[in-house]
Amino acid sequence: MPATSLSLNDVLDRVVQREHYFLAQMRHMHPLVETYLQDLKNDSSGNPVPVKDNYFLGRLDMSKGLEDTSFTGQAGFGHNLLGKLTGLHSLHFLPAGFAQMVVIDTDFQKRYYNFNFVRREFLGDVRCLVIDVQPKKGNKTPHFMGRIWVEDQDYNIVRFNGTYYPQPKINFFFHFDSWRLNLRPGMWLPVYIYTEESGLKTGLLQTLHFKAQTRLWGYELKELNKTDEFTQILVDSPQSVKDQSDAAADAAPVVAERLWEKQAEENAVERLTKGGLLAPPGEVDKILATVVNNLLLTNNIDLQGEVHCRVLLTAPLESFPIGHTIVVSRGLLDVLPDEASLAMVLAHELSHILLGHRLDTMLAFDDKMFFPDEESFQRFDFKRGSADEEAANNKALELLKNSPYKEKLGNAGLFLKALGLKVPDLPNLIRPHLGNGVAERKGVRMASLLSEAPALDEKRLDQIAALPLGGRIKVDPWSDQAELSKAKTVALNSASEKMEFGITPFFPHLVRFSPGGTDKVALNTSALPVSPVASGTTSEQK
Ligand SMILES: [Zn+2]
Repeated sequence: MPATSLSLNDVLDRVVQREHYFLAQMRHMHPLVETYLQDLKNDSSGNPVPVKDNYFLGRLDMSKGLEDTSFTGQAGFGHNLLGKLTGLHSLHFLPAGFAQMVVIDTDFQKRYYNFNFVRREFLGDVRCLVIDVQPKKGNKTPHFMGRIWVEDQDYNIVRFNGTYYPQPKINFFFHFDSWRLNLRPGMWLPVYIYTEESGLKTGLLQTLHFKAQTRLWGYELKELNKTDEFTQILVDSPQSVKDQSDAAADAAPVVAERLWEKQAEENAVERLTKGGLLAPPGEVDKILATVVNNLLLTNNIDLQGEVHCRVLLTAPLESFPIGHTIVVSRGLLDVLPDEASLAMVLAHELSHILLGHRLDTMLAFDDKMFFPDEESFQRFDFKRGSADEEAANNKALELLKNSPYKEKLGNAGLFLKALGLKVPDLPNLIRPHLGNGVAERKGVRMASLLSEAPALDEKRLDQIAALPLGGRIKVDPWSDQAELSKAKTVALNSASEKMEFGITPFFPHLVRFSPGGTDKVALNTSALPVSPVASGTTSEQK
């Protein structure tokens, strides 16, 4: 179906039809929605720097949004909010305002708008028709005003960029750039929204100046829960009847205790994965495990029981162990500048394991896992007291000093220095939700590394203390799988491009869905160069 055979009017008919189909689909979807926002102020050299931040995580629920089909179209956008969000963790910045940007108009109709074809353009591999959209004069309710990108096979909107107009009297519509990805055949679902405002007057003295990133994932989760029980039991029954354990004896007391802790660990990890907070096991875990192994090998430690690593899918910077599973947040992995700083984070968590800091074994009871996903942050607490933290810090320093990272600890110190400076301005990025933060109000972790770091120099282009958010870890919004971003690192033009811990727009490379997943290209490990140490190699030999 070449697009050229259709008139703009025909194309628009299909776009409207697809958009109504999209809304109908969204009523059955319950993805997680995360918004992270930074308020900005210009510094002395006129560069915007974050001075305050906000964080919101919730689950989108549009099921009660509107009637199933609203082809009749009286209700325009802004007549009401779409649906509601169940908050996992919310702050007062009106999260619904960000979630609403997943939808161009709750009742998208040709008669409300003037359309203007601009050009054809590729977004990644997908050829799009670019169309400017303006609400007609006389619309009482706010409508979308801006530009849409429509893919030229089925005419789904894949990106829209603009705002809603007219602005309401007491509230504000922000400017946004909203992206959808082709996650399933024929389904383009909202994944990224970038919001930016500067100079928006909200009162006599107040002017809004901020940037925000909204991400959606966990689309597959609800589907899983429905079919779970029966299908799985039927599939495995013949082989798994016999217990796998080779010894016919009961467990010795120490073994029983270990098994019990393991059960607590597995329960917690599984529950967090099911709720969409932890990525399922994947490539990134292996990279983290390589660093953990490097630390163990070079310190000649033979630990009983394997250490696993997993990715927490949220932005706030945190890491913690759940038994022998080390969890690092997506946001923290994004901002760490190099392997030595990653080793610094992992060495601390590994130390908790080596020091025998125990997991709450009440988690081994299954009933402890029965709660709504929204309560995850309240139900789980992997935070350790200050004595454990200090012991882990000291042990971690010892591990690092015997490791291949010992020459580069200055970089880790530099990261901590940069992070320490942000503590007052970015409390929501720094505040952990499940474990201990890398920085806290009273200071940073492993503060003795600070003395090994060079002085921070904001002007130096070759000194990168931390990266912006979103640069390293890419999350599959359907399966929650975390992988390394294939984006290449680029040379910076000016110091203002460093954007340490900062927020940037999204430019995903769009591809059409293919069942095998064309996305399974070899990982670009240059984004996080991690090199395994061969067994038996010590840091001295390196
Ligand atoms: Zn700790």
